[in-house]
Amino acid sequence: MNDPGDVAMQYQAASEQAAGLEVNVLALVADALASGLVTVVDLTQPLSERTPTIQLPEPFVNTPGFKLRELSRYDDRGPAWYWNAVEVGEHVGTHFDAPSHWVTGRDLDDVSQVPPARLIGPAAVIDKSEEAASDPDYLLSVDDIRAWEADHGPLPDGGWLLFRTGWDARAHDQQEFLNADETGPHTPGFDVECARWLAETAPIVGIGVETVGTDAGAAHSFDPPFPCHSFLLGADKYGVTQLANLAKLPATGAMLIVAPLKIEGGSGSPCRALALIAT
Ligand code: MN
Repeated sequence: MNDPGDVAMQYQAASEQAAGLEVNVLALVADALASGLVTVVDLTQPLSERTPTIQLPEPFVNTPGFKLRELSRYDDRGPAWYWNAVEVGEHVGTHFDAPSHWVTGRDLDDVSQVPPARLIGPAAVIDKSEEAASDPDYLLSVDDIRAWEADHGPLPDGGWLLFRTGWDARAHDQQEFLNADETGPHTPGFDVECARWLAETAPIVGIGVETVGTDAGAAHSFDPPFPCHSFLLGADKYGVTQLANLAKLPATGAMLIVAPLKIEGGSGSPCRALALIAT
């Protein structure tokens, strides 16, 4: 029974089967998509001149928002075609922060250099929308994540932590979305220790949020300021902002696909963010 030749043959057969299975995995996904067993959730906010855009105080330079400039529309300028030029800051709308966006990651990848395999991964979704509804300055803590892990298992290796706060419901209105008063913006985020832990200890490649940036509105006053940007981008991890439809995702089991433009030397890019979910 345990003849080495038999074992070798069994191993060979198992390897061939596994290799065959690898090919079939994508065929299974294609079948599942066609039959509706897997569906695609669009996590992207629409881009228009109304898309809320971060507002930095003086003396900092602000980003332009999104602008569409018509080149021709089946007219004298181009009788059979319609097309536009766009102007948009790298950090407008649903967008991707590359490590080089922050000074702590200045020697790390720009957006064109991010390995594509790191743009697809499993997503963990933490829902604090009730907490953020009563406290717009709500900050996620390591204890919150530990409590989530007790119910759902560890954060996914090579995956993403998506922070649901209900903030996507405000995305139609710049004022509601930025929620600023004389003390600055008030939007949920992560506390300093949580940002440090996500950067240095958690096995994830990035975080995704529904707000205008990965950091809380009040993070200008944290120590260090903007800890998600500072720690995560400095640790060669990523941020994705202004996500929509996180309420449609399960706590675990979704597959996130983030596709920023491949801008040479770019610090980030508006992106399409999609999730595959099993239904
Ligand atoms: Mn950004």
